[in-house]
Amino acid sequence: MIFISMNQKLRLLSYVVIAYMLLAFAWWTILLNTKNEEAYTAKKESLKISMMVDGTYTTEAEFIQTEKYTALKDRYKRRQLMIFGESLVFVISLFIGFWLINKGYRDIIKNSKNKTNFLLSISHELKSPVASVRLALETLIKRDLEKSQLKKISAGALKENTRLGALIENLLLAAKLEESYEINREVVRVADIILPIVNNEKLKYPSAEIQINIDDSVKLIHTDKFALHTILNNLIENALKYSPGIKRVLIQFKAADNDLLIEVGDQGVGIPKEEKERVFDKFYRLGAEITRTTKGTGLGLFIISKMVKALGGNIAVKDNDPRGSVFIVKLKNQVVKQFQ
Ligand code: ATP
Ligand code: MG
Repeated sequence: MIFISMNQKLRLLSYVVIAYMLLAFAWWTILLNTKNEEAYTAKKESLKISMMVDGTYTTEAEFIQTEKYTALKDRYKRRQLMIFGESLVFVISLFIGFWLINKGYRDIIKNSKNKTNFLLSISHELKSPVASVRLALETLIKRDLEKSQLKKISAGALKENTRLGALIENLLLAAKLEESYEINREVVRVADIILPIVNNEKLKYPSAEIQINIDDSVKLIHTDKFALHTILNNLIENALKYSPGIKRVLIQFKAADNDLLIEVGDQGVGIPKEEKERVFDKFYRLGAEITRTTKGTGLGLFIISKMVKALGGNIAVKDNDPRGSVFIVKLKNQVVKQFQ
């Protein structure tokens, strides 16, 4: 059985209405034009007769030259132009409307898909740490454990708790960023931000090869510390998370005039061409939820793209050589002149 959703039914109905309107309007245009033509011919004939009686003209060529006839012909041409002109405007408006309806439906479908994706991942992401912490606490209550076991179970529960806390923070931050992000600029030493992030990631992925290059001109920058930390943390986390084999990440900080250029490149799975724009959408994750092996909510890139925008910059992703992706962030007016 073919299943047609309510959205598709509405879409189909709007197409039928639009097609009907187009046909009806074409019919009205032809009818109006015919009536105009008929009225013109009738008026021309009656004018011809009355002028012939008056003796205003003798030949057809003279009649065509008369002022009354040229005025009548001009009026006929003007009306014809008006009928076709209005039809054209109507058809154009209808096509614009059609395009807007189509776009609206596409957005609705995209949003509902993203929400379903989000609900599937969020319910798993929320449930699993809660269940782990619960299991740990039940074990601690029921059993008399040795000190080392007690420490191991508590550390596991603490890790899950931290993950849950970070997820809630991200959800709240994403909701807040829908409104705006208030920038708080200060002079920041890039190394002070990047090194703790990289050291923390190295604890999670001991075999990862992470290289950092900071150009002299951007060792100190004028930026929002929290935003820069969030941007780098998310990009580096993604670079490592989406590199299933060898985790090789190159992080570069360069200057382009007064702007700061950050590049985070990996040798991971890469992002297909058609998905490169969409990864910045809220809750968007590549692939289907069931087949996915990585954890996440699809909020990281959405959050940082909002922050980059608030800092007057832009973010893009391109393919890395020979594989993987490079995220390029450009932040406006970050270079501190006196330190160059
Ligand atoms: P989280 O909210 O925990 O960050 P997430 O990592 O799934 O979850 P985003 O960081 O917004 O969410 O990334 C969105 C999607 O883009 C990811 O699910 C992944 O499919 C894809 N993606 C992001 N970065 C990379 C990368 N470096 N390489 C390949 N795919 C990536
Ligand atoms: Mg992420």
